[in-house]
Amino acid sequence: MKLDNYVINVPDFPKKGIQFKDITPLIGHGEAFSHAVDKMCAIAQKVRADIIVGPDARGFIFGAPVATQLKLGFVPVRKPGKLPRETVCESYELEYGENTLCIHKDDIKPGQRVLIVDDLLATGGTIAATIKLVEKSGAMVAGLAFLIELSFLKGRDNVEGYPIHSLITY
Ligand code: AMP
Repeated sequence: MKLDNYVINVPDFPKKGIQFKDITPLIGHGEAFSHAVDKMCAIAQKVRADIIVGPDARGFIFGAPVATQLKLGFVPVRKPGKLPRETVCESYELEYGENTLCIHKDDIKPGQRVLIVDDLLATGGTIAATIKLVEKSGAMVAGLAFLIELSFLKGRDNVEGYPIHSLITY
């Protein structure tokens, strides 16, 4: 199954010059969605992950089904102010301005092998911040899994040394 047949490129969204990859046709198609999740499950097994971490919000779409299929836990990485207990946070630069991501201090246990799952690797800022949060928890990043990698944005340079697995590369 060619997963990229289910991704629509939307030029100039949300602003001029951005080629937005719309994944809603893929997740709206039962077979394509489950094929993508199966492939991510195989990655999780290959890296011997024992917990899945997904950043807000599209990381939840893929991370949660991977976790349940493998009977692993899922940890959400969220925007500030959303998690009710003590959090650890990381801020990072966006093209314009700054973004912050947080996790509960104790949702990831020291020594766990983590697979971070997200829909798309662009500049790598989100994933670099997520890696820092995992490592601050005393866990280790066993791998990074993406539905899509935009290789021309060189997000890999931001996460050098971590094994990256992408199902579709542009
Ligand atoms: P980044 O931190 O630059 O790697 O981008 C992180 C998140 O922004 C991704 O997980 C996507 O959800 C979203 N994103 C960035 N660029 C695009 C794009 N061209 N199309 C769709 N989503 C994008």
